[in-house]
Formats: sequence, structure tokens, C-alpha cells
Amino acid sequence: MGGLQDVLEGRCSVMNGMWGQFVGNLAFVSLTISLWAHLSIWFRSRLSYRENAVLGAIAGAASIGSILLAIEFAPGIYIDLRFAPLALAGMFGGALSATIATTLAIAARLMLGGAAVSEGILVMAVLAAAGLIANHCMKKKSATLLHVVVLSAAVGCVLVVSMALLPTLSKAHTLAEIGLPMTGMNVTATLICGLIILKTRQLDLERRMLETAFSQSPDYLYVKDRDSRFITVNENMIRLYRYGTAAEMVGLSDFDLQPLRLAEELYHSEQELMRTGVPLIDSVEHIEGRDLFASKVPLRDNEGRVIGLAGVTRDVTERVALERELRESKNLLSHAIAGMSDGFAMFDREGYLLFCNEQYRNAFPLSGNARVIGAHISDILRRVAETRERSGIDYEAVEDWITSLSAALHQNKDEEVQLQNGDWLSIRTRLAADGSAMVVVSDITATKQSEIALRMSAEQLKNLAETDGLTGIVNRRAFDEAFKREAAKCARNSASLSLLMIDIDRFKAYNDTYGHPAGDQCLRLVSNCLLKSAKRPADIVARYGGEEFVVLLPDTNERGAVTVAEQFAQLLEEENIVHSQSEFRKVTASIGIAVASGHVLQAEPDLLLSEADAALYDAKVQGRNRVLIRSIAEDPKAIKKVG
Ligand code: GH3
Ligand code: MG
Ligand code: MG
Repeated sequence: MGGLQDVLEGRCSVMNGMWGQFVGNLAFVSLTISLWAHLSIWFRSRLSYRENAVLGAIAGAASIGSILLAIEFAPGIYIDLRFAPLALAGMFGGALSATIATTLAIAARLMLGGAAVSEGILVMAVLAAAGLIANHCMKKKSATLLHVVVLSAAVGCVLVVSMALLPTLSKAHTLAEIGLPMTGMNVTATLICGLIILKTRQLDLERRMLETAFSQSPDYLYVKDRDSRFITVNENMIRLYRYGTAAEMVGLSDFDLQPLRLAEELYHSEQELMRTGVPLIDSVEHIEGRDLFASKVPLRDNEGRVIGLAGVTRDVTERVALERELRESKNLLSHAIAGMSDGFAMFDREGYLLFCNEQYRNAFPLSGNARVIGAHISDILRRVAETRERSGIDYEAVEDWITSLSAALHQNKDEEVQLQNGDWLSIRTRLAADGSAMVVVSDITATKQSEIALRMSAEQLKNLAETDGLTGIVNRRAFDEAFKREAAKCARNSASLSLLMIDIDRFKAYNDTYGHPAGDQCLRLVSNCLLKSAKRPADIVARYGGEEFVVLLPDTNERGAVTVAEQFAQLLEEENIVHSQSEFRKVTASIGIAVASGHVLQAEPDLLLSEADAALYDAKVQGRNRVLIRSIAEDPKAIKKVG
């Protein structure tokens, strides 16, 4: 029992000693590799072949150290971690590192001598080559955890294979004796050291990114100590204060850079921050004529004590200037809009009133109070309808009117509208690029009134030019035009056109007996009788000259013409205008009628006038106070006379 215990304790102490040695060996290798990983940061800005040469040297040293610190696994049987640094040198440093490391390790191994020297050297070379293959596989990409794991596995495989296949080692049964610990320890060492390199490189990368972000930031960045002295500043700060490097500014404070009063102010606010730990966010500073927004946050140590501050200052000089310019131009614009004589309003793309001036509201006396910012165009129009502000709107279908006008707000258009109070407004709508609508309202009442007056006087002038002053009926000039027009129209439509030519009988005598004014009154009565007789809208009654009248009856045949003539004669008789010098004792008239159609009207319209005149002449000759008709046949020479 005691023997067994002794054996067990002996084995335990062997194991303890072996594991202790392994940990020591691993620590040495890891420390050496970690030393290189940190040194490589220092080498970063220098030439990479130097870094690789140093990596080679350090990996070689780690390998040698591991050989020297070899673990006595069993009496006379040593194992070490020499392979891990060589493989890593190949993977992370490339050919130069691998060559230097392997050369150094091989040289040391040769100097130490002992058994299986050549096999050991061979395995070392193979593993350095395995590292190189891994380096090649990465193809300039950064190494990852997977690369390290694969390399570690490769180390394990190479060791197992070499112990199994190399004659000296296989004969000595090294695989059986030390295969497992030898392989396991080298794989573990490769993994741990690989991870150290990866982690250090990753930290370095993050640091570099932060450094770049810090130094190249367009803002002013700095870190200050507890006494408000700069610990570090970025490029922008160096440029602002015209220094050469960040180092030149380290240790300076605002007292070295700013006027005393400003420096004191800044110092006090920073010391207050460090005392209270409350960050300063976007406080406004004016430094060297520039507008700055400064934010400062406290930096704390592990115990939470404030040890300084990190500051970021943004130069907003241009932004402030732009904002000022914008404000000024906005003011200018709103002054202009407020002061303009027209009403101005702006609606957004949904039809809500965004802005309007007082004149716009005043232009609409009844719906002005509905025209407030935020009101929708349909509500404004509803108020217009409720108050009946606008004339010319069908208030029965008011909702349709509101819908169509609201939709039309977003179209370029000019309209003139009249309000119930008689005012006229010009409303011009223009669309902006963003879909909003700008409306300009001008009072055009005066212009509109003069336009209406002008139109009326033009109409009056036209009437005067076409009207006979005494009787108020169409004059000769207007008749001539109407005659041409109607003759052409009836010719086109193959309709009959009748013409009555009327001459008052013994009118000279009437004038002589009753005087000229009475004669004029008589002419007026005659024209009235004619107007009453020719009742169709198309009929034209005109004064042809002196006491002669004509009546043009479009689309009227002989019968119709005779009816009109007889009706006139009847009316005149009923007027019973006493004429002592007439054989009929009252005013009478003789009427000559001519009727034509078709080809005659087209070819010789004046024939109608001469035939009517001839018929009138005949009526006079035959004793006056009668109607004679001449119908013009298609053949103008065959004129039918009707008595
Ligand atoms: P007849 O029966 O043949 O037609 O005889 P008459 O006297 O009417 O003869 P005539 O047609 O030649 O007379 C025309 C007269 O009409 C001459 C003129 O005194 C008169 N007269 C012409 N124009 C006017 C006018 O504007 N006012 C007045 N009061 N008389 C007019
Ligand atoms: Mg006459
Ligand atoms: Mg007459």
C-alpha cells in the first residue's frame, strides 16, 4: 500500500514538475511573442522588412529559449515548444522572419547537440514552411482566428507524422512515449501565441482607427487634464493655433492661447465641470473671431474620479453667417410682402394656407376672417359661399363649386372675379416647384369699371353709327350692310328674300302744312308702325332716306311680304294722322315690294332694290296708298308684275 502511495506521489510530483515546466516554457514563449506583438506597433511606421526581421529574431529567440527550458517528460526524454514560434514567424512575418527564426533555432539546436538532431531540424524547417504556406494562403488579408486554428492543427499533424515516419524517431517510439504531450503542448502554444498576436493587432487597428478619427476630424478635438492643460489635440486644433505638432501643444492651457478674460472664463467653466461631473453640451464660444459650439465631457478613472475632460468644438461660423443671411432675407421678404399693394397668399400642396399678408385678407371683406394660417382652401371657399361674397356662383350646387375650385388651386391660372359688393379682383395662381401654390390678389375694380365704360361707349358709338337719329331705327348705312349679308344668306339657303320700299304720300305738302317738326313726328309714327308690322327677329326696318323706308324680310315669300305691308297700312290708317292736303285726308304710304330667291340673289342682289323701287313708282303712279309687288323670277328678265 505504502509502495503504491510512493509511486503515486512520485508520479504526481513528476507531473507537477512537468506541468510547471510546461507553464514556464509556455509563459516564456508567450511573453517573447507578446513582446514582438507590442514592438510591431512601434515598428508600424517603419519599413516592414525591419519588422519582419525583428519578428524572425524574436521568434528564433523564443524557440531557442523554449529548447533551453525543455521539459523533462521522463528521465532523459525532453519536450519543448520550439515549433510554435517558428510556425508563427512564417505565418505573420513571411519568408524573412521564417528564415531568420529557423536559422537561429537550428544553429542553437546544432550547438546543443544530442540525439535526433537532424530530425529535429527537419521538423523545425517543415513547420516554418507550414507557417509560410499559411502566410501565402492569407494573400495579404489580415489573419483571423481560423488561420491560427488551422496553423495549430497543421503543427500537430506535422509533429505526429514526423514522430511516426522519421526512422530515428519511430525507432525510439517517440510517438508512443511523448507524442501526446509534445503535440498537445506545441498546438496549445501555437494557439495561445497566435491569439496574442491577433488580439494585439486588432487592438492596434482599433487604436489606429480612433487616432485617425481623432486627428482628422473636421471638428476641434482635445483632451485636457484636471488642471485644464492639453494632453492631446487633433490636427485641426494644431492648425487653428498655428502649431507644428500636437506635442508642441501638450501642457499648454487656454491661458497660453486666449486673451486673459476668455481664458479665465473657459478655465472656470471647465473646473466647474470637473468638480460637478456635469458635461457641457453645445455651449457657445467666440474664439479668434469665429463662432464655436463646444461640448465637453468629463473623463473618469476606474474609481469614477474626474481626471480631465474630452472636448469637441464645432466651428459654426459659416452656419451662423448663413442662418443670419437667411433670417435677414426672410425679414426682407416678409417686409416686402407685407408692404406690397397686392394680396399675397401661399398654400401648401395639400391646400392649407401657409402664409398670407393683411392685404390678402382685406381683399375679401366677408371671408377674410376665414383666411387664417392653417385653414384649408375648401373651408375658405365654404365661407365665401355662406356669405355669398362672390357673384356669379350657382349657390345651389355650392359643394361642386368648392370641390372643383379646390382642385384647381394647384394649376397656373389667371382669373377675374367680381364680389357681391361690386369690387373686381384679379386672382393669379402660380405653382412653385415643391407643389405649393402662390396666389396674388389685386383690386382691379377701377380698371374693370373703365373697361366696362369703354365697352359700353364703344357699343353706343356703334349703335349711333348704325341708327337713324330721328326715328331710332337702322340707318341707310347699316341697312346696306345688312342687305348684303341677308341676300347672301338667303341665296345660300335657297330661301326667299322680300324687300318692302315705303314712301309717305304727299309728304312735302304735309311738311308745308304742319311744319317740319310735325313732319318729323310723323316719320317717327310711321317707323313705329313699320316696327310693329315686321315682328320677326330677323326682320330689319330701316330709314332709307327722307321719308322713304325699307323693310327687309329674310326667309319670307310674296305672301308674307304682302301681309307685312298690309298690316303696316292698317296700322298707319289706325294712327289716323290728319293730312288736309292729301286726297285721303290722312297720312298714307305707297309700298313697292320685290321678292327674289336663289340664283338672282346670288348673282344680282341689287335687282331686289331696283324692282322694289320700280313697284313703288308704279304704286305712286297708280294713285298712291297701295301695295304693288314684283316677284323676280329665276330668269331676271321675266319679271312678274302683280297689281
Ligand atoms: P309723293 O306722294 O309723290 O311722295 O309726294 P311727296 O310730297 O312725298 O314727294 P317727295 O317724296 O318728293 O317729298 C319728300 C319730302 O319729304 C321732301 C321733304 O320736305 C320731306 N322730308 C324729307 N326728309 C324729311 C325729314 O327728315 N323731316 C321732315 N319733316 N320732312 C322730310
Ligand atoms: Mg320720297
Ligand atoms: Mg313721298
